[in-house]
Formats: sequence, structure tokens, C-alpha cells
Amino acid sequence: MDMLAGKVKMTTQTLDAAMDAAMNPAANPAALIEHPIRLTARDVTVHYGAKQALHGISIDIPDRAVTAFIGPSGCGKSTFLRCINRMNDTIEGAKVGGRIELDGEDIYAPDLDVVELRARVGMVFQKPNPFPKSIYDNVAYGPRIHGLARNKTDLDEIVVNSLRKAGLFEEVKDRLAEPGTGLSGGQQQRLCIARAIAVGPEVILMDEPCSALDPIATAIIEELIDELRTNYTIVIVTHSMQQAARVSQKTAFFHLGNLIEKGDTEDIFTNPVNKQTQDYIMGRIG
Ligand code: ADP
Repeated sequence: MDMLAGKVKMTTQTLDAAMDAAMNPAANPAALIEHPIRLTARDVTVHYGAKQALHGISIDIPDRAVTAFIGPSGCGKSTFLRCINRMNDTIEGAKVGGRIELDGEDIYAPDLDVVELRARVGMVFQKPNPFPKSIYDNVAYGPRIHGLARNKTDLDEIVVNSLRKAGLFEEVKDRLAEPGTGLSGGQQQRLCIARAIAVGPEVILMDEPCSALDPIATAIIEELIDELRTNYTIVIVTHSMQQAARVSQKTAFFHLGNLIEKGDTEDIFTNPVNKQTQDYIMGRIG
């Protein structure tokens, strides 16, 4: 109970406290280490029909760290996130320009297998969206499609390991055959994270993964993100500056389709260079 109370307190901390958290090197140890670059974006543009949503975004995203995209609603955070696993391909009228590389490979190359890319770059959405299937089948779905298991024993192992990594196994181990949709919101979101993990991704994209969750479920997901960053490259869109300060080591601030400022989370929150970033951090825009 004390632990839960602590989590709620952490989740509702003030921006000042969030800034303190970002300033405290112990809270963001990865900020002190230079991680190799996993993803590079250069001059990325997106048009929806005639409307330009992104204007030449360039950023390097490091391995095994959390990069947060922050900025006012409608500034292009989700649009850019969707460029990283080519989800914008599925939106009629969307046109992506520029170049994005994953481990040096152009992800928009004509011969690139998009289904394989989306296994390498998994996505977790705002609203938990488990399939109308059992907990087991939700996680087994991807490995089955991609032929990752030779037999039932292999598949069982992938499912159990993925649920463990998503911090859900202990809560669901006795009801794997029950529908995923019967879980609580926070559990459903962890199930979706397990589903993404099951196909062995390198990068996990999260689009406001806590916006539909209560403070306790949010705190659990944030702790999970912190654990996952030791094995994955994580990019998270969040409208909560406190969340960005708590979970990320790198932050990128977007405004009106432009990437205004990027850098170590600690620097962005405590010493932003750009006036627009300062205004956003201080709550004057957004
Ligand atoms: P954010 O994630 O920062 O809230 P979005 O990437 O969702 O911003 O949106 C950026 C801009 O692109 C907004 O003006 C939005 O209206 C527009 N937009 C987003 N998705 C679509 C779409 N599917 N079709 C047309 N316009 C879109």
C-alpha cells in the first residue's frame, strides 16, 4: 500500500520536482553515457494532401535509451513517430520525404520489407488495443506470423518471456486462455507491450502510452519503460513534461511541425537554449 501511495505521489509531482528529477544524474544515469546511434532522420517532411505537417526533421536517436518527443498538441510528434515504422504509409494522402535510417539502412528503400520493419520497430498506441483473443494468443500472434517458433514449446517460451519482460506474467499466469480485453487498462497496455516484444524488436515506439491510464497504472508503465531501455531503443511521445523528465534521457521539442530543440533531457528542462522551448517548459505555450 505504501508502495502504491509512493507511486501516486511520484506521478503527481510538480513540474519543479520533475525538473529536479531531470537534473539528478542518478535519476537519469544513461544521460551520462554516450550511446551509439540507432536511428537517424534527415530532413524528414510529411504532407497530408496539400498540408505540410513536418518541416525537415533531423535527429539522431540513441540505442538503449528513452527519447521523448514533447510539444503542444498538433505539432507533429505522432506524425514523426509514425514515420519511424512507416505507419504513415497506411494513411491515404500522406507523403513522406527525407531519409530515415535504422542501423544505417534506409527504411524507405523500395525493396525494404515493411512487415519485417514493423517487427523490428514495434509500436504501442495511446489506447491499449489488444486483439479480441486470449492473453496467450495476443502475444503468440506475431511470432506465429513471422515463423519465430519451431514448435509449441518454443512458442510457450516466447509468450512467457515476453509477458515477463512486460511485467505482466505473474498477474496473468493462471489465466492465459482468458480474453486480453478482460484485463484492466494498465494490464492491457502491458499486454500490448508484451505483444510488441514477442517479435524481437530493436526499437519500441510509444505514442502517449499512459494517456488512457490512471496514475498507478501510469507509474507501473513508467517503471517498465525504465527497465526496457536496458535492452531496447525507446521513443515515446508524451504530452506530459513531467513524464518526459521522469522516463527519458533525451528529449526533442516540436512546435508547429518543426523540431525546435533536442538534447539531453536534463539540459532541455533546466537550460533550454531556444525561447520557444523555454516558453513551453514554463507553460507559456501549449
Ligand atoms: P501531435 O502528435 O503533436 O499532436 P500530429 O502528428 O497528430 O501532432 O498532427 C500534426 C498535424 O498533422 C496536425 O495539424 C494534424 O491535424 C495533422 N494530421 C495528423 N494526422 C493526420 C491525418 N491522418 N490526416 C490529415 N492530417 C493529419
